[in-house]
Amino acid sequence: MFADWLQYRWDLLITTWFGNNLFAMNFYGTLAIVYCMFWTVGLFYLFVDTTGRPSFLLKYKIQEPYTPMTKSEFMDMIGQVVYNQTVVMLPLFYLLARALEWRQFPTGQLPSLARIVTEAIGYLVLYEIGFYYTHRLLHYGPLYRLIHKRHHRWQAPVAMSSFYCHPVEHVISNIMPVFIGPFVLGSHLFIQWGWYGAVIFVTLAHHSGYHFPCMISSEYHDYHHLKFNQNFGTFGLLDWIHGTNNEFYKSIAYKRHRVFMSCQPIKQLYPDESQNISSNNNNNVKNK
Ligand SMILES: [Zn+2]
Ligand SMILES: [Zn+2]
Repeated sequence: MFADWLQYRWDLLITTWFGNNLFAMNFYGTLAIVYCMFWTVGLFYLFVDTTGRPSFLLKYKIQEPYTPMTKSEFMDMIGQVVYNQTVVMLPLFYLLARALEWRQFPTGQLPSLARIVTEAIGYLVLYEIGFYYTHRLLHYGPLYRLIHKRHHRWQAPVAMSSFYCHPVEHVISNIMPVFIGPFVLGSHLFIQWGWYGAVIFVTLAHHSGYHFPCMISSEYHDYHHLKFNQNFGTFGLLDWIHGTNNEFYKSIAYKRHRVFMSCQPIKQLYPDESQNISSNNNNNVKNK
């Protein structure tokens, strides 16, 4: 029943809004999904970061203390994000939509759940490969200074800083790896659009600096911004193979890297014992 209803709505969307035109679907449709997801979710985080409200959310901040974003940080970030989303992304998305139109992909009969899950796993692995190696390359000395340093201006990242980067980085490390899966697998448009929306949501969460209850963990990429030479990938597969998350495994952030259901912040559920030891040592030194 639900499947029939969904199929009917889908057919209506494809024919009335896009006239069954593959290019239009992948250019205007994909842009609409990316922009809507980025600005609705991103503005929520930005509101909390600039106003400190609602204040009960601040206890979920990963790196303490919470410091509200300054006006100059805000202006700088918005300027770079808007530049990347217009000057960089519009021509790039045009080319990608043409490439996918040439590649061809189905838009009719919706895929089965099994197919969606299988292709999503394929997307994740291909994205991990694309993101890990381009990201690691950008940490190579001259390339880092020239390109990637701009993104690492945020040692304690905020959601929209996910798009705060040099245009070259935005193309090779942020956008291209996302499109490898759809291009290689030639997936149904329904799977592609779900993927683009999910990637933007997860990227914002990973950079948000918050680890909320019932939400995916942001500890992994937050640790990369904090320590710089750990966690180059997205979910840890290639970091594990190359041994680039060894320090992370030993850290308290690794223990906290999970979905939790309590209203209590995860840093209270898994307190950092080493901090207590060092503060006790400091007190002992003071008492002597
Ligand atoms: Zn980096
Ligand atoms: Zn980042």
